[in-house]
Amino acid sequence: MKLVRYGNPGKEQPGLVDSTGQIRNLSGHIQDVNGETLALAGLARIAKLDPATLPLVSGSPRLGPCVGQVSKIVGVGLNYARHAAETGQEPPKEPILFLKATSSLSGANDPILLPRGSQKMDWEVELGVVIGTTARYVRTEEALSYVAGYCTLNDVSERAFQNERGGQFTKGKSADTFGPIGPWLVTADDVRNPQALDLFCEINGEMRQQSNTGDMMMPVARLISYITEFMTLMPGDLIATGTPSGVGHGMKPPQFLKAGDRVRCAVAGLGEQRHEVFAPL
Ligand code: ZN
Repeated sequence: MKLVRYGNPGKEQPGLVDSTGQIRNLSGHIQDVNGETLALAGLARIAKLDPATLPLVSGSPRLGPCVGQVSKIVGVGLNYARHAAETGQEPPKEPILFLKATSSLSGANDPILLPRGSQKMDWEVELGVVIGTTARYVRTEEALSYVAGYCTLNDVSERAFQNERGGQFTKGKSADTFGPIGPWLVTADDVRNPQALDLFCEINGEMRQQSNTGDMMMPVARLISYITEFMTLMPGDLIATGTPSGVGHGMKPPQFLKAGDRVRCAVAGLGEQRHEVFAPL
């Protein structure tokens, strides 16, 4: 199933994308696409509905973040070897984890806004993992059963805020619009192997990142197990699983996003995002 949240920011309604690509309104059945819905019982209930019986949504509404009321976003740093190399760092002995503010979440085609004072805004296409079952101390072998679904995610980053302002990654990862997710949440039963998905990011029509989730150093199942050694993952929580090489920060000379740039990124089967970059108001 492909689940969406459509409508104006803050007023999104839950929907389902039917087999012809049209959105069907789910608000007669669920309040939102959120942790409660994504718990396994909730998903099973939606799966039983006949899409043809759901009201058709007319036009092409804006798509909001594909999950609502996310309680946390856990980011993973340097999870692709060639990306670690381009940043000039050794692959870490243990995964780097950071928290990204949930207020950064935005829709798949929403504008990306340069935060005030931004000089080094950068792109990071990633596989997003959405948790469906409360997870603590989870074993790798059973970890994927805790996943509700997957989505395309751009972990937009401000490198000066991230690396030159002291402290943690969080400062460079959390501005408004720095977390586009979607267009859809694709439920886990429709993703045969999360480690075999092509992903790419294009800037102004030029390919910058092109890889496959099979190149992750720590695959999704081990990441979930690892993260839950340190914190409980709740239904609706999101993991940004790390970005492959080809970010602006790694280019020679480095290249960063500016107003008017167009960003296009996708993970195979999970849908495409298209953004335009705007300067602060
Ligand atoms: Zn990232």
